[in-house]
Amino acid sequence: MITIYWHCLETTATDEDEKFVAGALDQLAQHLRKEPTKLPISIKRLGDEPELARKVAEKLNRLNDQLYTFSDCAADIADVLPIDKAYTAKLLVYCSPHGHIAVAAQRKNPDARWGGTCGPLAAVYKPNDKNGVFHEALHLLGADECYREDDPYQKKPDCNRDGCIMEYEPTENTCEDWPFLCDKNVRIIRDLAKQVENRMLLF
Ligand SMILES: [Zn+2]
Ligand SMILES: [Zn+2]
Repeated sequence: MITIYWHCLETTATDEDEKFVAGALDQLAQHLRKEPTKLPISIKRLGDEPELARKVAEKLNRLNDQLYTFSDCAADIADVLPIDKAYTAKLLVYCSPHGHIAVAAQRKNPDARWGGTCGPLAAVYKPNDKNGVFHEALHLLGADECYREDDPYQKKPDCNRDGCIMEYEPTENTCEDWPFLCDKNVRIIRDLAKQVENRMLLF
């Protein structure tokens, strides 16, 4: 099983935020468990594991220091996330567009205007944007970007789906249209699903 933890930053989070993120990720997980990806995935609230939440909060707080980069933070969080059958869990943080996490993510990548992912750490900082949650969560699972770095509003030639969720700014209803991924990204997630299944048999 592959696990994505979600966390709303306590200083800014409301019950509505929590419902929004949990609901979006549960919906994504329901899609991913079906054809064509068939990924064994579970979604967990970080706050339900207080010891882990405390360790993660400590790392996220360090992002207030500009010398501590988003990549440093991702590497440190990789060390504290639990490993289930050889798979390190992932973490999606929902936070304010003006907060220190959004600032750190955009310092790493100025194109990351709504969210950013590095290793097992994703940050989403566009409020109530389900596409953004899906897009970053899919990066956590290895999905590839489908826009050109030199011109984000142009698609990469290997993306064969109009309205692919890995485009730069997916349209509003993209996330309702499963599978909202091009063949390349379906293959990436399907390969991950096979690896996860194999390890679940081995361990
Ligand atoms: Zn992306
Ligand atoms: Zn694509």
